[in-house]
Amino acid sequence: MDFEPDSADEAFREEVRAFLKAELPEDLAVRGRAGFLSGHEEAMAWQKILAKKGWSVPHWPVEYGGPKWTARQRYIFDEECYLAGAPVTNIGGIGLVGPVIFTFGTPEQKERFLPGIRNGDTFWVQGFSEPNAGSDLASLRTTAVRDGDHYVINGQKIWTSHGKFGDWNFLLARTDPSAKKQAGISFFLLDIKTPGVTVRPIESLEGSHHLAEVFYDNVRVPVENLIGEENKGWNYTKFLLFNERAFYGAEAPALKRYLQKIKKIASMERAGDQPLINRPTFAARLAELEIEMTAIDMTVSRVIAHGLDERNGGAAVGSILKARGTELAQKLTDMLVETIGDYGAYYYPDTNDEPSLRNLPFTGPDYAPGLMAELIYRRAASIYGGANEVQRNIVSKTLFGF
Ligand SMILES: Cc1cc2nc3c(=O)[nH]c(=O)nc-3n(C[C@H](O)[C@H](O)[C@H](O)COP(=O)(O)OP(=O)(O)OC[C@H]3O[C@@H](n4cnc5c(N)ncnc54)[C@H](O)[C@@H]3O)c2cc1C
Repeated sequence: MDFEPDSADEAFREEVRAFLKAELPEDLAVRGRAGFLSGHEEAMAWQKILAKKGWSVPHWPVEYGGPKWTARQRYIFDEECYLAGAPVTNIGGIGLVGPVIFTFGTPEQKERFLPGIRNGDTFWVQGFSEPNAGSDLASLRTTAVRDGDHYVINGQKIWTSHGKFGDWNFLLARTDPSAKKQAGISFFLLDIKTPGVTVRPIESLEGSHHLAEVFYDNVRVPVENLIGEENKGWNYTKFLLFNERAFYGAEAPALKRYLQKIKKIASMERAGDQPLINRPTFAARLAELEIEMTAIDMTVSRVIAHGLDERNGGAAVGSILKARGTELAQKLTDMLVETIGDYGAYYYPDTNDEPSLRNLPFTGPDYAPGLMAELIYRRAASIYGGANEVQRNIVSKTLFGF
């Protein structure tokens, strides 16, 4: 099996690097490289720059604006963007609901919603989890009742990433309470400004407010915003979750950036009379993590070479990558913080969330801010996108049948 990049791939990598050098504004990249979550404004500005170039929706078919790249080109693009510190664009729109709309949506829905996602005009957030329905998503209790040419939605979602910035919300609601759990769920597209929607930010451990609870109180959604058929929402959800794990689960580009950063910092930090990176115990641990990284990278390359198909064990591979990738992200961010010694214990707040702190005197090396924020954020990586215990259940069920 040959899944090494060829010279055309390398030429493509150079093209992407040149584009990033010319078009990625330094003030957008600096936060990403430090390890702070992308700010909303930065993410949308970057998506607009990509859209102008025709590169904002790498996974989409050409007819909806995709650039017609191979799977390997898409991977190279993601990797280079990440390494350069480019803001993360709207995953909810581009990666999750966009493919649902162009696969299952009506012609009117495609025409109405896809351009806004592609061009960075509308920001979409995911409304699946509820206070008692996370891993067991199908037990969700938000309801949608048909009333003429609308559905009336009541209930609550939680852990909605970037909820306070959402223009549109794709959400699941129960339309048939008498049906078996999965059978009575429908998939809706909702304008967050609709009366009756309340978004309440949740403060996370690292101090940011990127998560939210969303409440729905007699919210009227037009029937034309239902995806596919009523009560068949679980089919579209499985498609979306499979894409989420397959394309975003391992976050291999992020892992590469962490490794690069550890090496760079450990070459500058001193341990006694030598650079930290030369210390045998440190080097051995780094090598161990690099081997894990390489294994993940090879698996991603294998997936790229063969494609992922839900019917031939693809669901298991997506779950394996999600669990192993996020656990490695946690080990690498731990090591990053340890690498800066005492300054690792210091918490540098995100000044986007706390502008009043911008002018405070700054302690430590200039690569210190962001590292602890990233470590804390990655604690959640084994939960978001589906808890890793649940991913292991999927692997067991798919590959071993129990
Ligand atoms: C940072 C972050 C961002 C998120 N963003 C979004 C978002 O944008 N939209 C959205 O809809 N949701 C989002 N979520 C929610 C996420 O999908 C859920 O948190 C996740 O699915 C787990 O559900 P839960 O929190 O209800 O935990 P629970 O399901 O209650 O699980 C609690 C613990 O029990 C374990 N467990 C549960 N069931 C089993 C089982 N069958 N076998 C073994 N162990 C089990 C879990 O692994 C976990 O350790 C986000 C979560 C986080 C942390």
